[in-house]
Amino acid sequence: MGIVDGKRALVVGVANDRSLAWSIVQELHKQGAQIALTYQGEALKKRVEPLAESVGASIIGELDVNIDEQIESTMVKLKSMWGGLDMLVHAVAFAEREDLRDRFLNVSRKNFLRSMEISAYSLVALARAAEQLMEANGGAILTLTYIGAVRAIPNYNVMGVAKATLEACVRYLALDLGPKNIRVNAISAGPARTLSSSAIRDFHSMAHEVEQRAPLRRAMRNEEVGGMAAALLSDLSSGVTGQTVYVDVGYSIVGM
Ligand code: NAP
Repeated sequence: MGIVDGKRALVVGVANDRSLAWSIVQELHKQGAQIALTYQGEALKKRVEPLAESVGASIIGELDVNIDEQIESTMVKLKSMWGGLDMLVHAVAFAEREDLRDRFLNVSRKNFLRSMEISAYSLVALARAAEQLMEANGGAILTLTYIGAVRAIPNYNVMGVAKATLEACVRYLALDLGPKNIRVNAISAGPARTLSSSAIRDFHSMAHEVEQRAPLRRAMRNEEVGGMAAALLSDLSSGVTGQTVYVDVGYSIVGM
């Protein structure tokens, strides 16, 4: 029997088999969860379909986290399919490619707000919608962040500011939802080669730095995010909320 046996999970943010969300889906599946996935746009649907099939997950439709009606219709579908929800995974972020290089100082007002909206506000919007489906039995919400939220990492720029906001949102959501036994946590993952990270200039150096300096002297493996995600979403972590847990082969503790 798995640690999330029979629990119902919505995972938002699978783009392909390199996505961190995909490593979370695989572990949740291994641990006995039922899984629902969304996709953004027809091109992604084609990529997500075979992945969903391989773990017996349901694809419940398109979800652009900026569109409130799509968030609402996702919850309506989950309610009619399952009657409720136990776990929500938010693995979504966006910044314009031009803002993931050179000076943070140059970010435009429009791009700054768009990054914030997609990368941080979307967690609030999804958590509010999921609350109705979780309040009967409690639940667990998880998002993904990066050390660029708390340190200035060259080229991460506006995304670091959005992740700082996201981590603060985790704490405030945990405070609001705690009385309903809904927990909210974040995993701060080490660098992983994905569609999103390929937009960051010199991402290779960030990853190389971790491999050289982290206590474990290697890159983080995506499945290590999946493992911690399953633990944080499961009842094994029933006393943990509002936290950012580092799955970064120890990089964040090193001073020099
Ligand atoms: P990924 O595979 O590219 O996943 C990012 C996902 O966000 C994609 O599915 C993307 O869909 C989705 N997304 C963007 N805008 C959206 C919107 N408006 N509505 C719905 N979905 C939207 O990359 P990833 O690296 O696994 O990223 C997942 C999370 O992990 C992100 O929060 C990222 O910041 C975080 N993280 C990544 C790393 C890393 O090194 N890779 C490290 C720490 C934390 P589209 O492709 O259609 O835009």
